[in-house]
Amino acid sequence: MTLLLDDITLTYPDGEGRLTALDRVSLDVPAGRLTAVVGPSGSGKSSLLAVAATLVTPDSGRVIVDGSEVRGLSRADAARLRRRAVGIVFQQPNLLPSLTAEEQLQVMAHLDGRRNRHVRERARELLDAVGLAGQAHRRPHQLSGGQRQRVNIARALMNEPRVLLVDEPTSALDHERGAAVLALLGELTRERSTATVLVTHDRGALGVADRVVEMVDGRLAEAGVSSAP
Ligand code: ADP
Ligand code: MG
Repeated sequence: MTLLLDDITLTYPDGEGRLTALDRVSLDVPAGRLTAVVGPSGSGKSSLLAVAATLVTPDSGRVIVDGSEVRGLSRADAARLRRRAVGIVFQQPNLLPSLTAEEQLQVMAHLDGRRNRHVRERARELLDAVGLAGQAHRRPHQLSGGQRQRVNIARALMNEPRVLLVDEPTSALDHERGAAVLALLGELTRERSTATVLVTHDRGALGVADRVVEMVDGRLAEAGVSSAP
């Protein structure tokens, strides 16, 4: 199993008591498959991704990322696992204004202590894969919203993650560009064999997902299987 969440409960402090954001949630995402998570605002979708990303430690339950159980890892080992095994794409690309598209990707390898010709080749190859072959030297202000989101996705793939976590990537895009980004995520999942979790409000995601689950009040339920092959 590439990503396994097993019986996860997560609460946040809330005044005198606790708010239950995830209520005994289990989810198993194999390599090369895309699971879409839908559900109303405030239902716990981003919390689910934060737990899967090892950014937040749940109250109980097991998180297994690329074969490693997260509980029990030191902070440094957890950070290394996150850097190497997990790619994260948030709604806002959060690109550094002064860096070119290619440099945004190279930074990810530099953080992992790698700095060589191979890093540059990989950045080029990924920009090509997301349809930005001609834009490698552009800075964020020279790119459209859709292009920036593609840089964001390419950057998340820079360290060859086994797990790809994507939170509402199309909410700032128009329908057409949003659909293209969703199709791209489906392709990348299959080509690069990532275990992908895609949180979205976009019905268009249902076509690229292998499985759709729905989050309601911190609980996860099957929402049906898409007709995609
Ligand atoms: P969604 O992504 O589906 O909108 P979230 O996971 O962001 O839902 O939030 C689930 C619930 O947890 C909401 O009630 C939200 O207000 C609460 N919540 C999220 N993050 C925190 C936090 N860091 N501290 C306290 N409460 C939080
Ligand atoms: Mg959210």
